[in-house]
Amino acid sequence: MKVFNLSCDQDHVFEGWFGRSEDFDRQVEQGLVQCPVCGSGDIRKLLSAPRINRGRAEALAREAGGPQAGEPSQRQLEAQRLWMQMARQLIENTEDVGRRFAEEARRIHYRETPARAIRGEATPHEAADLVEEGIEVFVFPMPAALKNPVQ
Ligand SMILES: [Zn+2]
Repeated sequence: MKVFNLSCDQDHVFEGWFGRSEDFDRQVEQGLVQCPVCGSGDIRKLLSAPRINRGRAEALAREAGGPQAGEPSQRQLEAQRLWMQMARQLIENTEDVGRRFAEEARRIHYRETPARAIRGEATPHEAADLVEEGIEVFVFPMPAALKNPVQ
């Protein structure tokens, strides 16, 4: 699993989880990666992910005279807050079908089951297949804190 710090053309910063580095490029190409704040599909990888390479990120921040890594700017905090808010809304308004996501999305698309909003897990390959079939899906990077809500 690869964790990248990503940014959209509006400079909203967020994290994306991908199986492999190549998945990132393919998903961006297919428009599957969207900014959780503004929905932009114009996504780029930030130079370094502090979690993976903290020392280098801090050195870069010092050189740039910007905020130290680990002290996100006001704007980043705001983007983070909106992201968490969207994730919660998504969880409240969708039915969790887990790993059956691709199968369920297909059944809804072909009207074999009542239409409703669902969420779940799909491999990049499954997601690409759904897009090819004209089924609307989008990849939302879920904040780790909300992935396994404490019951
Ligand atoms: Zn954005």
